[in-house]
Amino acid sequence: MTIGLWILGDQLSHQHAVLTNLSPATPIILIESLAHVRVRPYHQQKLVLVWSAMRHFAQTLQAQGWPVTYAEAEEFRSPLLAWIEAQQITELRVMAPIDKPFAQQLATLELPCPITIVPNNQFLWSAEEFTQWAKSRKRLLMEDFYRASRKRFNVLMDAGGQPIGGSWNFDKENRKPPKKNDPTFQPPAPLWFEPDDLTQTVMQKVRDLDCPTYGRLDRFGWAVTRSQAQQVLAHFITTRLATFGPYEDAMVTGQDTLWHSLLSPYLNLGLLHPIEVVQAIEDAFHEQQDLPFNSVEGMIRQVMGWREYMRGVYVYSAENYGYSNWFGHQQPLPDFFWNASQAPMNCLRQCLDQTERLGYAHHIQRLMVLNNFTLIAGIAPQEIEQWFHAAYIDAYDWVMQTNVIGMGQYADGGMLASKPYAASANYINKMSDYCKGCQFNPKVRVGEKACPFNFLYWDFLDRHRKKLAQQGRMSFILANLDKMPETELEEIRQLARTWQHG
Ligand SMILES: Cc1cc2nc3c(=O)[nH]c(=O)nc-3n(C[C@H](O)[C@H](O)[C@H](O)COP(=O)(O)OP(=O)(O)OC[C@H]3O[C@@H](n4cnc5c(N)ncnc54)[C@H](O)[C@@H]3O)c2cc1C
Repeated sequence: MTIGLWILGDQLSHQHAVLTNLSPATPIILIESLAHVRVRPYHQQKLVLVWSAMRHFAQTLQAQGWPVTYAEAEEFRSPLLAWIEAQQITELRVMAPIDKPFAQQLATLELPCPITIVPNNQFLWSAEEFTQWAKSRKRLLMEDFYRASRKRFNVLMDAGGQPIGGSWNFDKENRKPPKKNDPTFQPPAPLWFEPDDLTQTVMQKVRDLDCPTYGRLDRFGWAVTRSQAQQVLAHFITTRLATFGPYEDAMVTGQDTLWHSLLSPYLNLGLLHPIEVVQAIEDAFHEQQDLPFNSVEGMIRQVMGWREYMRGVYVYSAENYGYSNWFGHQQPLPDFFWNASQAPMNCLRQCLDQTERLGYAHHIQRLMVLNNFTLIAGIAPQEIEQWFHAAYIDAYDWVMQTNVIGMGQYADGGMLASKPYAASANYINKMSDYCKGCQFNPKVRVGEKACPFNFLYWDFLDRHRKKLAQQGRMSFILANLDKMPETELEEIRQLARTWQHG
C-alpha cells in the first residue's frame, strides 16, 4: 500500500495535518492548474504570491528529503492520474479544503484510488468545534465568540480567569481619525522582499498568461516563504503594533498600509498559523512593558476573534449563503472598479488605485469606502463579491462570503452584522484626507457638487426604510430621514436614479 499526499495551494503549512503524520518517503504532489485561475480575472500579484509560495514550499520539502512532484497543468486530474500511476499510489490523502467549491470539486473527482480527507488544522477552531459553539447560541455574536476564544486559549487572561485590563474590548481607545496636517504622522515602511529567481520565473509566467487578469505587476514584494512571513510578523510587532490600535480605521493618501500588519496573505496560505501570531503578540505584550494594551487587544481580536468567527460562520451557514440578497439589489458593478483612474470620487480612486498596484487595501478601505459605496448604490452583492475575490491578494471563498455578502452588503439580513455598514461622506471625510482632493463636496447632499456618497446614502435609507425599521440600531438615523424636507428627499431620489442609470 502506497499513500500519496496532494498539498493544495493554500495549505503551505509546516504543521500540515497529513504531512506531520507521514514518513518522509511519502510521495507528494503540488499542482498549478490553469483552469483554476481562469474562473475569474485574478490579481497578478495574487497569482505570483500563490504559485511562488507553492514552488518555494515544494523546494523546502525536497530539501528535507520528501519525493515531491510539482506539476504545471491545464487542470488537476491529468497530473494526478499520471502521478498515481507512476508512484503506484493506492490511497490519496488530502487535508480538507477550506473553501466549499473546492471541497465539492474534490468530492466528485474520479481517481483510480480512494481519497481520504483529513480535517483541516489551519484555524484555531476546527469546523466541528465552531459548529458546536454556534448550535448553543441564539445569535452568532462575534463578541461572544471572541470571549469564548480568549477563555478557551487562555489569551490575555489574568490568574483569576478575568480579561487583563478589566474589559474585553478597548475599541473606544482606537478608531482615531488621522492627523491630517501633521507631517510627523508617518507610519514605518512595511517589510517587502526582492523577488528571487524562482519568483521572477513565476512573474514571467503570469505576464505571459493567455487569460484575463487584474492589477499590476511592475513590482512584487510579498513574502513567499514561511521564514519571510515570520519576518513580516516580527517586523510588525517591533515597528507597528504599538500604534496599530488607535489608527486602525484611518485612511491617508499615499500611505497604503499605515500600521496594519499585512499578515492576511500569509495566514490564508498556511505560511503562518494564527496561534503563532496570537502568541507572538501576547509574548511581546508581557516582555515589553510599553506596548499599549488597546493595540495588543485590538490585534488579538482581529486574529482570534474576527478571522476565526468569519471562517466559522462560513462553515456553519447554508450552502446557498453566497446567493443571499436581502435588499434585492440588482445594479451592475460600475466599470471603474476595473480601472481606478476612471473612478469619479477621490476616495474610490485612491482605494482602487492601491488595490491595482498591490492587491491590498486595509479593512476600512474595503468596508467603508468600496463596500459601502456598492451597498448604498444598490449593486448586486454577487457582482461585488466576484470583484473582491478577483482583486485581493488574500481573497478566498471562505473569507469573501462572510466579509462581502455578510458584513459588507448585509445581504444575509443580519445573520452576521447587527446593522448595515452604510455611511455618508461624513464618515470618509472624518476618517481620511481623501475628500480634500475630490471634485465633490462631502458636506453637500444635493446639487452639482453633492458627494454621491451623500445622496446615495439617504436614497438607500429611503428605499429600504421598511426593512431597516426592523433593525433597532437604525431607528435614530431613520428619525433623521423623517425630518428631511420632502423637496430635498425628492431631489436626492432624482440624483440617485440619474447616477445609478447613467
Ligand atoms: C469587504 C471586505 C473584504 C475583505 N476581504 C478579505 C479577504 O479577501 N481576505 C482576508 O483575509 N480578509 C478580508 N477582509 C478582512 C480584512 O479586511 C483583511 O483581513 C485585512 O484588511 C488584511 O490586512 P492586514 O493583514 O493588514 O490586516 P490587519 O488590520 O493587520 O488585521 C490583522 C489580521 O486580522 C485578520 N482579520 C481581521 N478582520 C478580519 C475579517 N473580517 N475577516 C478575516 N480576517 C480578518 C486578518 O487575518 C488580518 O491579517 C475583508 C473585509 C471586508 C470588509
